[in-house]
Amino acid sequence: MFRFKCTSCDEWHEGMPTFGANAPLYFYGIPAEERGERCALDSDTCVVDQENFFVRGCLEIPVHGETDAFSWGVWVSLSRDHFAEFKACYDTPKRSHIGPFFGWLSAELPLYPSTENLKTLVHLRDDGIRPCIELEPTDHPLAVEQRNGISVDRVAEIYAFFMHPQQ
Ligand SMILES: [Zn+2]
Repeated sequence: MFRFKCTSCDEWHEGMPTFGANAPLYFYGIPAEERGERCALDSDTCVVDQENFFVRGCLEIPVHGETDAFSWGVWVSLSRDHFAEFKACYDTPKRSHIGPFFGWLSAELPLYPSTENLKTLVHLRDDGIRPCIELEPTDHPLAVEQRNGISVDRVAEIYAFFMHPQQ
């Protein structure tokens, strides 16, 4: 069992943590009172004004020495056509052969320089698993982490940021 010591409170935590947003960053930019009318949001897809299309995926970062990857739950925008393809195979168990699709990251992750609109590829996965999001291999620190992996200490640091936000 993967376990690590929280860097803030020194408690041990078991299991690989995951953090993410329930909607694209773009969604949060729509005034709250207009979202009901302009946005269609569910657990895996979001459409704004019937012309901005988003899907939820997993931006996975390998952890040195561990089997499980750390995962950021993130949203990316797709073109109208690719979103239609995504929806068409949404309930199909075998779909990993479709795509990948280009997507702009619609997420602002803490602990990094701005991550909004980083370029990604969206890889569909079989058996209902959320797509995995591959960042363009730039020198952005998030892309470097996805490429090179992170230490258990870095996982603990991210965990502490979310679990002890007042500190
Ligand atoms: Zn803690």
